[in-house]
Amino acid sequence: MTALVLGHKNPDTDSIVSALSATNLYRGRGIDVKAVAQGTPAPETAFVLERFNLTAPEVCHSVAGQEVYLVDYSDLAQAPDDFAQCKLLGIIDHHKLGDVTSDSPVEVTIKPVGCSNTVIKELHDYYNVEINPSLAGAMLCAILSDTVLFKSPTCTEADKKAAYDLAKIAGVEDLQALGMEMFKAKSNLAGATPRDLIFRDFKDFDMSGTKVGIGQLELVSLSLITPELKAQLQDELNKVKAEGRHSALLVVTDIMEEGSELLMCSDDEQKIAKALNTTVSDKMWMPGVMSRKKQVVPNLEQAFKA
Ligand code: MG
Ligand code: MG
Ligand code: MG
Repeated sequence: MTALVLGHKNPDTDSIVSALSATNLYRGRGIDVKAVAQGTPAPETAFVLERFNLTAPEVCHSVAGQEVYLVDYSDLAQAPDDFAQCKLLGIIDHHKLGDVTSDSPVEVTIKPVGCSNTVIKELHDYYNVEINPSLAGAMLCAILSDTVLFKSPTCTEADKKAAYDLAKIAGVEDLQALGMEMFKAKSNLAGATPRDLIFRDFKDFDMSGTKVGIGQLELVSLSLITPELKAQLQDELNKVKAEGRHSALLVVTDIMEEGSELLMCSDDEQKIAKALNTTVSDKMWMPGVMSRKKQVVPNLEQAFKA
């Protein structure tokens, strides 16, 4: 049986490129796999795939009866709804350990680094599997995206090493220039509805039994969010919250200013604001906050535990 290599819901660049790069890794080890994704590429990912001549993985929302490798997550909330009916074979990730489980032994590599593709690059080295230049270019972009051009507090020396090794394979000389091109593609808001923008990079979390949804929008400048668009995003967040969540958050990150503005609709706005070291107001600016994984989710989980 051909096993599936599958990233998370609302796939980001790392999630989609990880499906491709982990497929290259497993195939290089003689394992029969195919890359799939829970959605089509967002603008940033579309830019990366086009830039390096790669095809997006086939879209897949159901894994019942399949063998599955997960990349870039291990949370049930981010897996296909029928995940309980598949056979989990392995996980490659860089997030907190999630709540998936298995009925037989699995191969798991999870490391506290900035990007799943850093882990996948290290595994290629370990198993001595070759990476072609176009795949290397896409893996490099995934690292630049997840680490926000190495500026995110999630970025480690291992991420930088992997990125520079991949740049060499891909023939990329100016990493910053490539990264800025990519973030400009990501900052293109044209044609997207407020709902599209909230769900472009959105994750639901189960925080001690409470459902909290958190979207992140990374932009080259916050000025792209006009007062009119901000009001529309706020209206849409109210709807997203009403769909069965305690809180719906949108973290709008300014990658040049290195901070984020928080938009939210919540049953307890004070609690959320306090957990994120800000106060409820018209402009909730969080200086230095770039990473949902490291600077937003853990604080909220702690607040909901209390
Ligand atoms: Mg991801
Ligand atoms: Mg990632
Ligand atoms: Mg990200």
